[in-house]
Amino acid sequence: TFSVKSEGSRVSLSGSGSTDSGGPARADSLDAAKHDDNRWPRQNSLSMKEWDIPYDELKLFEVIGTGRFGTVYRGSWHGAVAVKLLHVQALSDHAKPLDTFKHEVATFRKTRHENLVLFMGACMKPPRLAIVTSLCKGMTLHTHIHLRKDKFNANKSVLVAQQISQGRAARTSFSPLCRPTPAPLYRAGEDSVTRCLSVMQVVGPCARSARIATTILLANFAVKQQCLHCCVSAWRGMGYLHARGIVHKDLKTKNIFLENGKVVITDFGLFSVTKLCFGNNARGDSLGIPPGWLCYLAPELVRALRPHASLHLPFSKATDVYAFGTVWYELLCGDYPFKGQPPEAVIWQVGRGVKQALTNMHASKDIKDILMVCWAYRPQERPDFASLLATLEKLPRKRLARSPSHPVHLSRSADS
Ligand code: ADP
Ligand code: MG
Repeated sequence: TFSVKSEGSRVSLSGSGSTDSGGPARADSLDAAKHDDNRWPRQNSLSMKEWDIPYDELKLFEVIGTGRFGTVYRGSWHGAVAVKLLHVQALSDHAKPLDTFKHEVATFRKTRHENLVLFMGACMKPPRLAIVTSLCKGMTLHTHIHLRKDKFNANKSVLVAQQISQGRAARTSFSPLCRPTPAPLYRAGEDSVTRCLSVMQVVGPCARSARIATTILLANFAVKQQCLHCCVSAWRGMGYLHARGIVHKDLKTKNIFLENGKVVITDFGLFSVTKLCFGNNARGDSLGIPPGWLCYLAPELVRALRPHASLHLPFSKATDVYAFGTVWYELLCGDYPFKGQPPEAVIWQVGRGVKQALTNMHASKDIKDILMVCWAYRPQERPDFASLLATLEKLPRKRLARSPSHPVHLSRSADS
């Protein structure tokens, strides 16, 4: 346990807080990235240099917004882009922070999925560090829920949640000409993504995207060319990230865009570098708690909070699932859990396993049960995204306006 003292949004921590991890719990996505480097073939992994965008090539227009660790501009680089210019006052020339940045960029560049923001490159020469991604149209779930007060009924919430969590091929996302091969072509020991891509090998033109939809499976299991519509769309959101060994670490409604009913997740795997850039957000023995951050933190993260220690928080796939629980709560209730409570009260409760009461929530037991399992105190008791999806799909059909495998178009109340 530790005692907490609130100073506005700064919380002083003192005492001997114990962590479940026992030691510096290294964020595992960097290790995953290294591991991934070994596993994914050379031909498919372009060198970092090829993702390095010279800062001078970027055109920056107006500021879209400012986050905890950077300012986002609307920009232009071979088309419309979003440029996140990182605050670099704390980023010295020391190799370590720069290495962290490069590792996280390495994680980012290996993602390609219709429910993830498209990574286009990065400016990697200090002091100008920037991440360039596709420009998201539409608004974030945060804007819909908390600013516009749009209502998401159970049907819409399920459709959004499915896209966030889905990580498996949905049969109906294949056009008739774009069909999976009958036999899985995987070898023992391959990870599930490779396996699934093998299963999804497609031949012939894709009717829907009018592209040549030949997915060539190389001997080393790289996908050389993909049918964007049929292959890539089969892997969704968090399920895809986790299957690739990437932990998001900052899943929140501010990082989820809704574009004509389609979910686009941003800012995955960038937590460490952003923390570095923000100078760890700690002064003396106090820890800066950005507004709206605490309610996404699983108990094991809350218990590990220390001034100057946020880089070593024990993020895991299970902490992403906890954060998903909070997104699910926001969708259904239109508010944050522990709304209005001071940070020290939230830290105390979550650290001891107290959950937001659901007594005033008008929802069925199966919908509330999803919250309860995502918010389970012990990380090993939280489901993975595959079983979450199965649970979402089992929710009584009468709640769903249409089949969940159909393209999602939310009504205007909660759509852009
Ligand atoms: P946060 O996630 O805490 O809001 P960010 O720095 O990630 O902080 O984002 C700052 C602002 O820029 C937010 O309003 C966010 O919606 C917007 N933004 C971030 N990335 C993109 C993007 N790829 N396309 C459009 N807007 C973006
Ligand atoms: Mg963001």
